Parts: sequence; structure tokens; C-alpha cells
Amino acid sequence: MNVLDTFSLAGRTALVTGGYRGLGLAFSRGLAQAGADVVIGARDVDACTEVAAQLAAETGRTVVGTALDVTDRGSVQAAVDAALAATGRLDVVVNNAGACIHRPALEVPDEEWRAVFDTNVDGLWKVSQVAARHLADAGGGVIVNIGSISAEIVNRPQWQPAYNASKAAVHQLTRSLAAEWAPLGIRVNAIAPGYVRTEMAPVDDPAFKPRWIDDAPMQRYALPEEIAPTVVFLASDASSFMTGSVVTVDGGYTLF
Ligand code: NDP
Repeated sequence: MNVLDTFSLAGRTALVTGGYRGLGLAFSRGLAQAGADVVIGARDVDACTEVAAQLAAETGRTVVGTALDVTDRGSVQAAVDAALAATGRLDVVVNNAGACIHRPALEVPDEEWRAVFDTNVDGLWKVSQVAARHLADAGGGVIVNIGSISAEIVNRPQWQPAYNASKAAVHQLTRSLAAEWAPLGIRVNAIAPGYVRTEMAPVDDPAFKPRWIDDAPMQRYALPEEIAPTVVFLASDASSFMTGSVVTVDGGYTLF
């Protein structure tokens, strides 16, 4: 087999949480370009449906939007069922949905801490568990978790303690599930992106530039399209011997 063929996702279905904007949109598009049918799930179902129609027209794949709140187990089950109904299968899950709140630790109210963990950790856990029950029955599959360099470093100048702790949990849960589910044929890996221009990361704000950009070896932020190829790699047979890995894609940010 030609090496590029191992990156093909033809005949497979991917569910991308939060897949209609930012990094998730680039992942949905990249997976469809690699041949997958794609199901985009988030709370803004209109945005999911609209973007799905655009990507379907662009790529010729089946791309559908579905309502999904990762914090609600019933909603997660409904989204997995929607993926199966729309395409007849589910092979790949990209746990991309996430939330970040900037606030100094002494001022973080419990509700805010809870909201970040509900989305980034509990939500990722629920989607993984519900999807893995299907993947195990189907003989295997792939989960790609979107972690962060914030699992390894403390960002500055803004403080975001809940986010940092939540992403550390994502990296370790990735390893834990990878070990436990390898015998089921389910590979679980994570990506730790550095700064990427999206609604979550105001990389053009001069307040952040000295620390986020000027401090980095490459002295720039990434565009979402620069992270998407790694998602395709981890979703495909090109990474068939990888599980439990956290792949850092940060322009060298964590080197200093
Ligand atoms: P955005 O804020 O642009 O997008 C977040 C997406 O998550 C939205 O589509 C949102 O849709 C969805 N989402 C949030 N909460 C829920 C929920 N409860 N259920 C379902 N979907 C939800 O963020 P980014 O594109 O920047 O981030 C994507 C991922 O990448 C996140 O996990 C983030 O932590 C991570 N990351 C981002 C970096 C960056 O620099 N941008 C760096 C490192 C990691 P809706 O609100 O409609 O539900």
C-alpha cells in the first residue's frame, strides 16, 4: 500500500464535537477531505447544520449537523445515534468541544470551575464512553482528544486555573482509556496545540502578544488548518501503532 493511502478515511464516519467553528471546523473539513463522512455536533444546531451543508457541497461527502451538549449524557447518546442513522457507522470521534475562562484563582467561583470541568473533562468522558460502547461492539475505532499545551505549562499573562487543570486531566484520561481499550481495538490519542487563532484564543490582542507570540520560538500563532493534518493522521491507519500518545503541535512554544 502507498504510504499516502494509509491517511485515507474513505468509508469511515467521524463525529466532531464543536465541529462548526475554530479548530473543530478545520478538523471537520480535513476529515471530509480525507474521505470521511462527518457528523458535526454542538449546542448551536443551526450553525452545525449550516456548516455541514457547506462542507458537503465542498467535499462531496455526507456531512450532517446534529444537536449535541457534551455535558448531557442523553444528548451525547442522541448524537451518536444520529451519526449511525445518517451514515450507518461510526469509526472516529474527535473530542474537540471545549471552554476556557480567564480569571485569577482567588476569584474563580465554583460555578465557573464546574462549567469548565463539565465541558472539558466530564463532557469528553461521556462522549468517549458512549461512543466506545459502539466502537467496541463494531470491532474498534479511534478517539482523538484535543488537549492543550496548558496541560504542561501555565499560560500567562492571563490566569486560567480550571482550564489548565482540565486539560491535564484530558491528557491523562487519554492514556488511561488507551491502555484499557487497546484490547477492544480502540486507539485513543490526544493533540496538545499551542496558540491557534480562534474565538477562544484572541491571539491578535496586543495584551497577549508579548507572552503568547514574541516568547515563542517561531514567533507566530497557528491557523486551525495547521492542526487539522495531525487529526487526520491520528484518525487514520497512518497512526495504526499509536495509542496513548499526546502529540504537541505548538510551534515550539513549550521548548522554553
Ligand atoms: P471555540 O471557542 O472557537 O470553539 C469551541 C467549540 O466547542 C464550539 O463549537 C462550541 O459550540 C463547542 N462547545 C462548547 N461547549 C460545548 C458543549 N457543552 N457541548 C457541545 N459543544 C460545545 O474554541 P477553539 O476552536 O479554540 O477550541 C477547540 C478545542 O481546542 C478546545 O478543546 C480548546 O480547549 C482546544 N485548544 C484551543 C487552543 C487555541 O489556541 N485556540 C489551544 C489549545 C487547545 P457551542 O457553543 O455551539 O456548543
